[in-house]
Amino acid sequence: MNTLMDSYGRLFPYLRLSLTEACNFRCTYCLPDGYRPDGHPVFLTRAEIGRLLRAFAALGMDKIRLTGGEPSLRRDLSAIIATTAATDGIRTIALTTNGYQLRKRVEQWREAGLTALNISVDSLDRGRFQRITGHDRCDDIRQGIETALTLGFDSIKLNAVLLRGLNDDGLEQWLDYLRDRDLSVRFIELMRTGDNREYFQHRHLDAEMLERQIQQAGWRPRARAANAGPAREYGHPDFKGRIGIIAPYARDFCKDCNRLRVTARGDLRLCLFGDFSIPLRPLLRTDADHEALVGRIAAQLGLKAAGHGLHQGHTGITPHLASVGG
Ligand code: SAM
Ligand code: SF4
Repeated sequence: MNTLMDSYGRLFPYLRLSLTEACNFRCTYCLPDGYRPDGHPVFLTRAEIGRLLRAFAALGMDKIRLTGGEPSLRRDLSAIIATTAATDGIRTIALTTNGYQLRKRVEQWREAGLTALNISVDSLDRGRFQRITGHDRCDDIRQGIETALTLGFDSIKLNAVLLRGLNDDGLEQWLDYLRDRDLSVRFIELMRTGDNREYFQHRHLDAEMLERQIQQAGWRPRARAANAGPAREYGHPDFKGRIGIIAPYARDFCKDCNRLRVTARGDLRLCLFGDFSIPLRPLLRTDADHEALVGRIAAQLGLKAAGHGLHQGHTGITPHLASVGG
C-alpha cells in the first residue's frame, strides 16, 4: 500500500530526482548565461541514490524521473539507471534530457532499464532551436529521437516550452511531425522562477489559445490514465502522435499533484515553488539509516501545501528549474 499521503489525501507514487545542477545548454528561460556552480557542490553518489530509492520505494513510490540540470552529463548515468531498475517496486524509470547525448547513448540507457523518455525540443526548426538553447543540435537530437522510436520505450514525450515570439507559430510543423510518429509533444506554459521575472513578462504565453487551435483542428481530449502527470492530452484519428498541454497557471493545477522532488544535493522538496527543503543526505550515508530515512520522508509530507503561489508572483526558493530538477 502507498503510505506516501499528504494531509489533503493526495498520494505520491512519483519521485523526480535531480542528478546534477550542471547543464551544457543555455536555454533562454532557464540558464541564459549558462551553468554557474553555486560553491563546490558534490552531487548524490550512486550509492546514496540507491539508498534514497529504496526508502521511497518502501513507501510505495513506483515511478521515478531522473532529471537535472542535464542528467546525461553524469558519466555514471547508465549505472544509475541500472541501480534504479534493480530497486524492488520501481516500475517506471523515466529520463528528462535536453537530448545532447541522445543519439550516442539512448540504446545504452534502454539496455540499462530506462522505460520512458522526455526530450526537450522547444522548436523543430534548426535556427529557432539554436536561438532558444544556444546550441545547433536540433538535427542531431531529431536523429536521436528516430533511434529512440525503434527501441520499444513505454513512452516518448517531447517537451516544448511556449515562448511568445520565439516558437509560437510552429504548430503546422509539429502537426506534420506527429502524423506518423508514436510520441507525444507537450506544450508547457513558461513558469516564472526567481531569475526570469522580466523574461517571463515578455515571453509568457497562455496555452489556452493553442488549445483552442488544436481543438478546432479536430483534436479531442484523451481519457486520463491513473498516475498521469498534469498534462491535458489530445489525440486525433489521423495522427499517430498526441499533444499534451501543461498549464501550471490553470485553476486546479495542483489538485492532482502526485510528485515529490529530491535535489541533486539530497534535499527533499515538497513543491517546485515551495519555501523550504528537507535535508535527507545525512541519512543517506549508510544502509543502517534506512528506517530513519523512511520515517523522515513520511513525516514531512504533512507539511506539503495545497498549491503553489505562482499567481501571487511567489516563486519560492527556486531561482531556475535547473536548480531543483524541473
Ligand atoms: N536539462 C533537461 C531538459 O532540459 O530536459 C532536464 C531539466 S529541465 C529543467 C526540465 C524541463 O523543464 C525542460 O523540459 C525545460 O524545458 C523545462 N523548463 C525549464 N525552465 C522552465 C520554465 N521556466 N518554465 C517551464 N518549463 C521550464
Ligand atoms: Fe539546461 Fe534543461 Fe535548463 Fe535548458 S531547460 S538550460 S537544457 S536544465
